[in-house]
Amino acid sequence: MTAVEIAGAVRSGEHSAVEVVEEHLERIARRDGGVHAFLHLTADAALERAAQVDEAVAAGIDPGPLAGVPVALKDNLCTRGVPTTCASRILEGWRPPYDATVVSRLAAAGAVALGKTNLDEFAMGSSTENSAFGPTRNPHDPTRVPGGSSGGSAAAVAAGFAPLALGSDTGGSIRQPAALCGVVGAKPTYGLVSRYGLIAFASSLDQIGPFAETVADAALLLDVIAGHDPADSTSLPSAPPSARAGLDRGVEGLRVGLVTELTTAEGLDPQVVARTREAADALEAAGAKVDEVSVPAAVYGLSAYYLIAPAEASSNLARYDGVRYGLRAPGADITEMYVRTRTEGFGAEVKRRIMLGTYALSAGYYDAYYGKAQKVRTRILEDFDAAYQRFDALLGPTAPGGAFALGAKTTDPLTMYLNDVCTIPSNLAGHPAVSVPYGVDAGGLPLGVQVLAPALGETVMFQVAATLEASR
Ligand code: GLN
Repeated sequence: MTAVEIAGAVRSGEHSAVEVVEEHLERIARRDGGVHAFLHLTADAALERAAQVDEAVAAGIDPGPLAGVPVALKDNLCTRGVPTTCASRILEGWRPPYDATVVSRLAAAGAVALGKTNLDEFAMGSSTENSAFGPTRNPHDPTRVPGGSSGGSAAAVAAGFAPLALGSDTGGSIRQPAALCGVVGAKPTYGLVSRYGLIAFASSLDQIGPFAETVADAALLLDVIAGHDPADSTSLPSAPPSARAGLDRGVEGLRVGLVTELTTAEGLDPQVVARTREAADALEAAGAKVDEVSVPAAVYGLSAYYLIAPAEASSNLARYDGVRYGLRAPGADITEMYVRTRTEGFGAEVKRRIMLGTYALSAGYYDAYYGKAQKVRTRILEDFDAAYQRFDALLGPTAPGGAFALGAKTTDPLTMYLNDVCTIPSNLAGHPAVSVPYGVDAGGLPLGVQVLAPALGETVMFQVAATLEASR
């Protein structure tokens, strides 16, 4: 059952939320040993919450648009009293004293949180292999990765553990695992969803967004979590666009641009390009006007991102000092305690990012690296703006290929970074983008295509995504 169907059945009293949650917990018990989507389950709290939802329905009170719908939460979202680790040893044992705004909004909408999902440590990675607690496996093929960094959330939806999940996307961490797991995943416009309670990686890029099996479910979840939050200073004050408003509109007369730089990016599997072209044809057949468009500066996206994101990370991760959160490795003096805590607490990729970022920000290199990267970022935004003068939405591949084997890219960080070549430009521009499953590769593994839209263009973005979904 989709989230829309579950919520409808629970609200009408046709189905009990407790039953729905029990079914999903059973599925998790049966299969998550082999998938490892979850780091922590909150089964008792979920059943209790589901019982409250059922009581509300019995009393004639509407529990909300996600009544009784199970949701999995990426473990970089703060949950009050529930372990929140970012898949890092450094946060082991830490229980946040508050809920992230998205978590409170889910609860207020009647949703039932099932637990916390695995990720690459601090969301740095594209395969979920950087988790300190072991990798997640792709439900379509356990020898392969689910993508990352929100691999646990993507796998949870793909395995039927939860119809909905939340992830975070800094450079592609929702869309890329969605593509590799054959589910829908969306990164909203920067500022549309509150980041309050999302453990920061790169604050100017991080956005929380939905995973779902269907476009309509993803839109429903986004509409629940979107909207201004005074607790996040980067939260947009304007009324959020409706993700669901355009779902049934079709694409007749819409102008869609196929982005040249995304279909010719380095390292793309030709099968992904073929699926993207089929998607373009399907939109054309549905009445859209499709044309090639160039977003020239997008080719510099990866290079700019790997300066900006580590720079922000090096600053954000300074707070893990053995004093305020989680792990502390004792030392003879405070400096030794800091060094030992951070040496033991952080994994190799996190250390690499902290060093890269510290270097990029250091006096003498700041203008050459960080400053230059910020200029590139502005160019990318300008080039997208020019494209949106002529097009309502853009199209491209999501990931360079299908799910790869565990271990295939762990020894070469640069090969791993190339996974985000098609997703990063939207983060740098602050624009929304959604990945929709579109066909399979020769091995039968799912592939995804991406619909991109201008800032606050979620309505048209989901409109195009729904048409693609229907055309498969
Ligand atoms: N894979 C990219 C990285 O490692 C993106 C991560 C993300 O979006 N959180 O930085």
